[in-house]
Amino acid sequence: MAKITLKNIAHRYAPNSDYALKPINHVWDDGAAYALLGPSGCGKTTLLNIISGLLTPSEGNVLFDDQNITDRNTAERNIAQVFQFPVVYDTMSVRDNLAFPLKNRGHDTAYINDRITEISRVIGVEDILFQKAQGLSADIKQKISLGRGLVREDVNAILFDEPLTVIDPHMKWQLRTELKALHKNLGHTMIYVTHDQTEALTFADKVVVMSMGEVVQIGTPKELFEIPAHTFVGYFIGSPGMNVLPTIIDGNKAMIGQHKIVLNRDYKGLKGKLELGIRPEFVTLTNNPQDLPVKINRVEDVGHYKIVRATLNGHDINIILKEETEISGDMNYVSFDKSHTNIYADDWLVTP
Ligand code: ATP
Repeated sequence: MAKITLKNIAHRYAPNSDYALKPINHVWDDGAAYALLGPSGCGKTTLLNIISGLLTPSEGNVLFDDQNITDRNTAERNIAQVFQFPVVYDTMSVRDNLAFPLKNRGHDTAYINDRITEISRVIGVEDILFQKAQGLSADIKQKISLGRGLVREDVNAILFDEPLTVIDPHMKWQLRTELKALHKNLGHTMIYVTHDQTEALTFADKVVVMSMGEVVQIGTPKELFEIPAHTFVGYFIGSPGMNVLPTIIDGNKAMIGQHKIVLNRDYKGLKGKLELGIRPEFVTLTNNPQDLPVKINRVEDVGHYKIVRATLNGHDINIILKEETEISGDMNYVSFDKSHTNIYADDWLVTP
């Protein structure tokens, strides 16, 4: 296992083209589980390939522990990788596919047998160990690929690039839970690329959120939920995401149109595009005319909670209410939980 340091890493696929990955400095702690989360094209695979050695960054260095390994290939970096689509040898049995990375490194039979017993249980292929991979379904083949990535204990890190895409939804949930448990037991540094927030938040200790080639926040799931560092994080994480409303700030007051909200601290010298961010979970629907007037457009009952879709001063706003909440005709106002009201300048959180 290794601590992985990205030192002023950035990448352009062609000289003078835009950055596919904007400059980043970050240390990935030894033994931690990370998720790289963001929409298609935001640079997740570019960053992962730079860490694995499939891609040489156009700027900066990669260090494993304190060794500069920027010019080393994947094999020299001693990394296991699982890709979006299965990488298995069709002519080999499931067992031989799993044993391959261990045999390659000269491990003895007893150790190989132990590892295969453990990993085949995790991925649920005990019953087909002696079957040829040829003819197996795509999701079983992908489970074998996952197993090949997990079978070695002596790797510096295990990198997963959207590994559950071809797995059916029930198995997806099960494998995600198994991966998390396995991470706890083995303590490998794991980096998991996904565009699915549920996958990222359930798997990772820390989630690295990317948007347009830039890392916009690295945080625990709780931090990303409670204090999004960028409006993109607020919008991308949560269902529905954070409400973002244009505002004018005067000291400890935020104006939404003609309506005033008292904030829990003073803001001074703010410049640029100013917005107030509040998650739907921290908005309360009230019948108090002192609060902010809203027009309710519809209420969606999604099982264990309700989502109220409303308009506040011409802007869409979502409110999450407990399932049992009754909405009376006079509840046309909202109040915001001050401790969860964030102010953004040019999309970045204004911190004290
Ligand atoms: P996805 O989830 O769709 O795989 P991603 O977040 O992994 O997307 P990347 O594949 O890293 O994003 O792509 C980041 C940017 O770099 C995109 O604009 C993409 O078009 C560009 N890009 C990726 N690979 C190449 C390449 N080989 N040559 C030129 N541009 C590339």
